[in-house]
Amino acid sequence: MAGSKYAYVKAFELPDPILPNTFIILRVDGHSFHRFTDEHSFHKPNDERALALMDRAAIDLMNEHKDIVLAFGESDEFSFLLRRSTALYNRRLSKILSSLTSQFTSSYVFHWHEYFPETPLLFPPSFDGRIVLYPGEKEVRDYFAWRQVDTHINNLYNTTFWALVQTGGQTTTQAHAHLKGTQSKEKNEILFNLFGINYNNIPARFRKGSVLVRQEVNGQLDRYASDMASEGPVILPDVLGHGDHVGSTIVRDSPNAACPPTISSS
Ligand code: ATP
Ligand code: ATP
Ligand code: MG
Ligand code: MG
Ligand code: MG
Ligand code: MG
Repeated sequence: MAGSKYAYVKAFELPDPILPNTFIILRVDGHSFHRFTDEHSFHKPNDERALALMDRAAIDLMNEHKDIVLAFGESDEFSFLLRRSTALYNRRLSKILSSLTSQFTSSYVFHWHEYFPETPLLFPPSFDGRIVLYPGEKEVRDYFAWRQVDTHINNLYNTTFWALVQTGGQTTTQAHAHLKGTQSKEKNEILFNLFGINYNNIPARFRKGSVLVRQEVNGQLDRYASDMASEGPVILPDVLGHGDHVGSTIVRDSPNAACPPTISSS
């Protein structure tokens, strides 16, 4: 093969190495999930089964790739932070991007029936993926803050929107019009005054997303986490000012291979 007259085409494949010593963040996002969630009758605004399935696929990916030290999920997306010095696939961009996105998608489909036992898949879902490089911890922290603020804004809107439709009897067009131009404060007031809902009492997972952290187990510092630790741990800032991490889900990377990671929602 290597010596054939066709082998020159291999030279058209150009190397695509990722800059050394930069943080790699991969974000996957469901393709056309507006339609996918509709056709598979997801509960609105938040189908907890689907969020748990997303977490499951993310945990599979973290188990497969120990260089992922932190992940954050909301809606149909998940972001994964790789340790700065990762040598995964020799830091080849397309290899990392395509393999991890493919594996996430595959896990999502593989575990679907466990989370949606009564809902057969009508067509295969897919996820897009992108990789963004960040030079320092500030940008990494701000990245996760950005995604978490997005979670909050979308969830407040969606919660109010679906309350107007499901409880308030409005059409989706009316609900859109009702919310047009409203600020957060007004949405909170609509929820409270019309529906008796205190937004702060909505499950933290919905308001703040889901966080997966690779952790120290049995007193042994996970060697994969150590270079992050030495640069100072990346901790999601409490951008919403609630002073807790109630939405956190923890992945414990067990050194005992027979013992699957435990998920705890504190
Ligand atoms: P694109 O392919 O551009 O990403 P999209 O339709 O997936 O298009 P998004 O902006 O990613 O657009 O929005 C995701 C959609 O999926 C939203 O409509 C969101 O409400 C819905 N969705 C995602 N997860 C859930 C969930 N757990 N429960 C209910 N709805 C969900
Ligand atoms: P990488 O992740 O680097 O691609 P790989 O193990 O997939 O590693 P490939 O060079 O892609 O390596 O080789 C694919 C392997 O799968 C080969 O061993 C090939 O013989 C085997 N394989 C693929 N398709 C079939 C098939 N239809 N029947 C039997 N063996 C197959
Ligand atoms: Mg999108
Ligand atoms: Mg999407
Ligand atoms: Mg999305
Ligand atoms: Mg192969």
